Amino acid sequence: MFQQPHYLESFVQAIFDTLDLPEGATIVLGGDGRYYNRQAIQTIIAMAAANGIGKVIVGQGGLLSTPAASNMIRVRAAAAGIILTASHNPGGPDGDFGIKFNTASGGQAPEQMTDAVYARSKTVHQYQIADIAEIDLDKPGDLILNSFTIEIVEPVAEYAELMEQLFDFELIRAALKNNITLHFDALNAVTGPYARKIFCDLLGAPEDSVHNAIPKEDFGGLHPDPNPVDAAHLVDLAMQADAPDLIAASDGDGDRNMILGRGMVVSPGDSLAIMLANTDVAPGYRSGVTGVARSMPTSRAVDTVAEELGVSFYETPTGWRFFCNLLEANAITLCGEESFGTSSSHTREKDGLWAVLFWLNIVAALDQPVDQIVRKHWERFGRCYFQRRDYFIPDVDQAAEMMQALTDRVGALAGTTQYGAAITHADIFSYKDPIDGSTSKNQGIRIYFADGGRIVFRLSGTGTSGATLRVYLDKTEKDIDRLELPMDQALGSLAAAAADIAAIEKFTGLGAPTAII
Ligand code: MG
Repeated sequence: MFQQPHYLESFVQAIFDTLDLPEGATIVLGGDGRYYNRQAIQTIIAMAAANGIGKVIVGQGGLLSTPAASNMIRVRAAAAGIILTASHNPGGPDGDFGIKFNTASGGQAPEQMTDAVYARSKTVHQYQIADIAEIDLDKPGDLILNSFTIEIVEPVAEYAELMEQLFDFELIRAALKNNITLHFDALNAVTGPYARKIFCDLLGAPEDSVHNAIPKEDFGGLHPDPNPVDAAHLVDLAMQADAPDLIAASDGDGDRNMILGRGMVVSPGDSLAIMLANTDVAPGYRSGVTGVARSMPTSRAVDTVAEELGVSFYETPTGWRFFCNLLEANAITLCGEESFGTSSSHTREKDGLWAVLFWLNIVAALDQPVDQIVRKHWERFGRCYFQRRDYFIPDVDQAAEMMQALTDRVGALAGTTQYGAAITHADIFSYKDPIDGSTSKNQGIRIYFADGGRIVFRLSGTGTSGATLRVYLDKTEKDIDRLELPMDQALGSLAAAAADIAAIEKFTGLGAPTAII
């Protein structure tokens, strides 16, 4: 699709037309190294020259992780950034490709802007492109062509500098030297060079701490998505008796993270909660946090910590842009979502390596491996068991009918009992943004139980066909003898109640979820 004549060009022209940047503006350009990255960069550079851009800052080799690009936009006061990636989706000639567009804040373009770009892409009938020779993307330095400058910049240094300000590198260096073992897997994607430089060169971790560190156009055939299903090899590693103290991975463009400890995968909700409970270990957060946010379906583990520590708390709809408004207004310092995304006010994107560094800092400061830190956290704050059950529904109409029937029932659910537990409250989540006052309706259905359980239903339409019903279950357990239950015992009746309440099998024929994460 992207390789057909004029396709990429038309879309990029639609971006330039919509943006209407001032003459001579600077933009940041890079990608996650997937198939077609280099060719697309050459095209975009030539188009930038013809569209009145003054300077394009390009990651060496065409590489820039999403959080590093976000940081570079801010540090260099660029007017915008173009990031070539399809995030955690597979790459290669038959894989995915995409264009992400970020504004001067370093954050993703707001929906009005992306809608406008899309509308323009349907009517654009010509594009401007300069006739310039192919640029050597591997050679750092400035190339000046009349009033147009191309700066090829080493992609890691500025990002690494920011990380050094946030975390206690000296402490982490000593811990990695003496007693802490790290296993980071870049999944053949963009974080490889970042991890090598930061973990090995700057923090002194042994070379064999970083795996699959050379970005490949097809990610070596791996699905570069750090979750227990697509990165099952890391779960297997964690289950070994002599597993490293901290195991971690990041996705194709470096914004997601997965943290594992000996014998466990740390749920993203727990990860955020544990970060909030340990901000005092990291120099960048020691002076306090203004607030914390999680997306609505994310486990409520962080709620308990925020309440005990007296930190302002926000529950937002799914979608990173809701965090961005709060970050811009300095209303929050930390935020996270269940789909393996966590970050802070240091950038406007989620940030995979930042999360790993935060964990390394905690492990080094507490001098405990990940699994012990998690268990001690549960003992203090309770454990919020969490599970996401995805039902892939090929027929979109069936999915819509099921959600409609469920929506019609929501008002009558409170006061009823399901699988021995009383429903105390049920609603359709609506969010009023405290910063811009906008309201987002129909953001999922929430059902709360008297025993502390919660079910959330959301229909996700991000696939290219069909729909996915996501059922999120969570339940907080404070009884010290019930902190290590098998998932089925902790959440089994909640799962059965969810299937019943939504009549999933009746509407879709699906007797079991397609995936459990
Ligand atoms: Mg991503």
